[in-house]
Amino acid sequence: MKIESVAVYRVDLPYAGDVYVLSGGRRFESFDATIVRVTTDRGLEGWGESTPFGATYLAAHAGGVRAGLAEVAPAVVGLDPRHGDRLNDAMDEALAGHPHAKTPIDVACWDLFGKAVDMPVCDLLGGRVPGPLPVISSIPVGDPEAMRRNVAEHRARGYRGHSVKIGAAEEEGGPTLDAERLRACLADREAGEWFLADANGGMTPEQALRFLALLPAGLDFVLEAPCVTWRETLSLRRRTRVPILLDELLVSEADLVQAVAEDAADGVGLKISKQGGLTRARRQRDGAIAAGLVVSVQETTGSAIAFAALLHLAQSTPRRSLRCALDCRDMVTTVTADLDAPIRDGGVQAPDAPGLGIAVREDVLGEPVAVYRA
Ligand SMILES: [Mg+2]
Repeated sequence: MKIESVAVYRVDLPYAGDVYVLSGGRRFESFDATIVRVTTDRGLEGWGESTPFGATYLAAHAGGVRAGLAEVAPAVVGLDPRHGDRLNDAMDEALAGHPHAKTPIDVACWDLFGKAVDMPVCDLLGGRVPGPLPVISSIPVGDPEAMRRNVAEHRARGYRGHSVKIGAAEEEGGPTLDAERLRACLADREAGEWFLADANGGMTPEQALRFLALLPAGLDFVLEAPCVTWRETLSLRRRTRVPILLDELLVSEADLVQAVAEDAADGVGLKISKQGGLTRARRQRDGAIAAGLVVSVQETTGSAIAFAALLHLAQSTPRRSLRCALDCRDMVTTVTADLDAPIRDGGVQAPDAPGLGIAVREDVLGEPVAVYRA
C-alpha cells in the first residue's frame, strides 16, 4: 500500500465557553485546526488533526502546522502508511523538529493502518485495556468560587479528574489568589478524585514556593508544569515534596530521558500533537511507564478527530499508569467527525470500529487549502 495524496483542510473551532484564560493573561476564544486526509493506492483514506492552543502555549502555531506540512507531505507520498517509524524518519529528514506539523500525517497513517487490517488503533498500539477511561475536566482560571462551581458541574457529570489552572500575576493576586483557587476547587473533593494544579509554566520557583506554603496540609493534588524552564523546574523539585507532572517541557523522547535521568517528575502529560503523533506518543508513554511515571493523555486542544487519536492511546495504556484522558471535544463547538464514544458517568471508551473509528463530516471541512501528490 502506498500513499497517493495528502489533502490539508483548515477549520475554525470556537471555544465552547466565553474566553479560556491561562496564566500570563493568555486568552483564547477560538482555535485554528488543521485536518489532513491521506489517501492510498488501495482506495483507503485516513484522517488526522493538529490544533495548537493558539500561538503562545508551545513553540507551535496553526500557520506553522500548514507550513510544516508543505515540507513533510511530499516526503511521505509513495511510502507505505503502515510503516509508522519509517514515515517519521522521512518526515524528520524533510524537516527538523516541528512535531505538531508531523502529527496529522502520523495519525492519519495509524487510521489507515487500522482500516487496512480491520482493527481499532488501540489494538495496534498494544491492545485494548478493557473498560471505560476516566475523563478529566479543564478548569480555566477565574474567581475561586466560580472555579469551584465549574468543578462541581463536572463532578455532577461523573468526572473524577480535574485540571485546575493556576498562575496568577502578582498584580492580580499572585500566589495568594492561586492558593484560594486550589483550596476552593478541592473544598468538596470526593474519594477517588484526582486533581492537577496546572500553572502552564507560569510560575517562577519563588512564586511556586509561596503558593505551596500558603496551602493547608493534607490537600491531595499534583502540581503540573509549574515553571517554564528545566532549571526552574529542577530547582523547585529539590525544594518541594508535592508530586510534579511535566507537560509543556516534555516534547521529545530526549526530554523524557532527561526527565527520568534528572528525576524531574512523577508523571507526564502527553498530548498527541505536542509529542508529534501517535508513533512518538506511544514511545514516550512506554518509556514513562518503564520509569514508573504516571501518564495523563491529553491534547493541546482539538475536535473529534484529535480526541479519537488520544482516546486510542489512552485505551491501550495500563490502568495503573493512566490517570486520565482529556475530552477536548468538550472545549470546542465545531463537530468535525462522528465518533461513537460518549461520556457516560465520567468514563469513555475507544470505539471498536477499524482505525480511529470516526466518520468525518466533510461538509464541515469545506475545500482543501492544499493537496500534495506525486
Ligand atoms: Mg498542562
